[in-house]
Amino acid sequence: MARMVGRPGRPRGRAFGGRSRNGRGGNGRPGSAGGSRPGGATVAVAPRKVALPPSLTVKELADALGVGVGQVIKQLMASGVMANINQEIDYDTAAIVATDLTFEVAPRAIEEEAGEEALPPDEEAHLVARPPVVTVMGHVDHGKTSLLDAIRQTNVTAREHGGITQHIGAYQAEINNRKITFLDTPGHEAFTAMRARGAQVTDVAVIVVAADDGVKPQTLEAISHARAAQVPLVVAINKIDKPEANPDRVKQQLVDAGVQVEVWGGDTVSVPVSAKKREGLDHLLEMILLVADLRGVRANPDRAADGTVIEARKDRQRGPVATLLVQNGTLKIGDIVVAGAVYGRVRAMFDDRGRPLKAVRPASPAEVLGLSDVPKAGDRFRAVPDDKTARAIAQRSLRREQALTAKPERPTSLETLFEQIQAGKVKELRVVLKTDVDGSIAPIRESLERFGGEQVKVRVLHAAPGTITESDVQLASASDAVIIGFNTRLEPGAKDAAEQAGVDLRVYSVIYQLVDDVKKALEGLLEPVYVEVVDGHAEVRQVFVIRGAPIAGCYVTDGRLLRGELVRVKRDKDVVFEGKIASLRRVKEDVREVGTGYECGVGVDGLKDAQPGDILECYRKERRGAVLA
Ligand code: GDP
Repeated sequence: MARMVGRPGRPRGRAFGGRSRNGRGGNGRPGSAGGSRPGGATVAVAPRKVALPPSLTVKELADALGVGVGQVIKQLMASGVMANINQEIDYDTAAIVATDLTFEVAPRAIEEEAGEEALPPDEEAHLVARPPVVTVMGHVDHGKTSLLDAIRQTNVTAREHGGITQHIGAYQAEINNRKITFLDTPGHEAFTAMRARGAQVTDVAVIVVAADDGVKPQTLEAISHARAAQVPLVVAINKIDKPEANPDRVKQQLVDAGVQVEVWGGDTVSVPVSAKKREGLDHLLEMILLVADLRGVRANPDRAADGTVIEARKDRQRGPVATLLVQNGTLKIGDIVVAGAVYGRVRAMFDDRGRPLKAVRPASPAEVLGLSDVPKAGDRFRAVPDDKTARAIAQRSLRREQALTAKPERPTSLETLFEQIQAGKVKELRVVLKTDVDGSIAPIRESLERFGGEQVKVRVLHAAPGTITESDVQLASASDAVIIGFNTRLEPGAKDAAEQAGVDLRVYSVIYQLVDDVKKALEGLLEPVYVEVVDGHAEVRQVFVIRGAPIAGCYVTDGRLLRGELVRVKRDKDVVFEGKIASLRRVKEDVREVGTGYECGVGVDGLKDAQPGDILECYRKERRGAVLA
């Protein structure tokens, strides 16, 4: 493991960490700023540089810095982090330690991080056209599944006809002797879930809109998801066989939604189709190729394969079975593959018709046998030279995953936005906007997008009328956006999802306040929001005066009273006084808290007048989490 950091043979790593041998041995003093080492040797005082990966273990950090592990642990403790030698820490934490030890820290390129040779970039000459990878999205019942099935049944080469299709998560269709790869889990949930894991596999998004039903909320959502991922769209206007089909109305609605349809001078292609009658499919496929060609989708087949896990499961007979989408290089039988935290030797591969394959080229899917366990959909995979490298990468992935589940990276929030802008971590504030009615969208969007100068822009990723759904939270989470609601409410589940993902979600009922909060957030002036948590109530039974101050003899009716907490005194329905519990006594002893059913004497700072029958309400203010709705 330790050799992952600053390995020999990597000129840059070694140059940065060039002193590691000098300082090794845990002498505890490598951080001495003067640069003087035990033994009297003096070294140059130029700042020492180190390049660090997004996460690493304490041991690896110690090695990279050339200091003892104890030194790192001590430094971590000083910043309030308790960590053992094998614990994974994130870049920020590691950078603080390194900076404290007078290192100059820079992030290390992703490819360098795994410890195996970084993949050299492909030279122009090696790049060849590959099939585009397509995801089909759209409103429920508009025909996504039917369209995928129709293409799959219709557009296969002659010799393939009659083959029994199997669901492996992706398949290839063919038109004019060119292939197109379809991911056949329709819907933006799968698309965005993969993206949330960092997998960007789609080149073109097909948005299916039923011609008889028109643009619907999930259509708009799908468009936003594709846009957030910067994936170009092709619109399939489906069900044109229906008498009530109205493709023109769909196009108008698309234009209203900001999708510039080509027929009217825009650049988004729309194709009328009928999945049921299998009409327009060739045209749709041709348009997909056209859009892909404009993008120039290419890859280098002559290198070790890498790509993404599309889906995976355990088969009772065959063991772990994973559908891998090769994105670059060629995957061959016998290759050693590491996918997320699992690895193994490719034993057999099959296409979506169950036929065995020997090699799989870029942008093609294959069902792969031979992995030691079931990887996760969305995990990256790559072929590596040997078992040892595979094991090292798999272990690192596992640790990183554990570190990430233990401590998710802090997503963008309005409260911390300014800090993140200053740190250069955020360049734009992305917003998912949900409103009560359509008419509220434009004024809010315009006000928001007017903000932001050179440093940061506001970008509304998705705006739609309606309640805030789990899908909104998913989009926000995958795109590191905040959710802002105006006069709307949360669907069940959305709140929990937001809290879990740490997505900043706020609902407003006054436009001014909404806009003002965003403005303040951009300027670093947004105050944290506190909520009140009531701990308990007590009834005043009698009042006596000790050394000039009234002490309320109380009976705790529910919850508890705590010394030092805030308290308000209620008489009938009015609040007659607010202050802090200065003293709390039970019988004759000072106590920290008194629970339900007990009597006590309560002294409240500044309280002049308390009466029997008054109610004391003991409460505290807690900083509110991500969800403000
Ligand atoms: P999904 O929820 O978007 O995957 O939609 P489905 O593919 O399940 O289709 C929903 C319904 O619409 C089904 O009853 C299909 O038979 C029907 N459907 C799909 N495509 C067409 C079409 O082109 N024409 C007609 N008339 N019906 C269609």
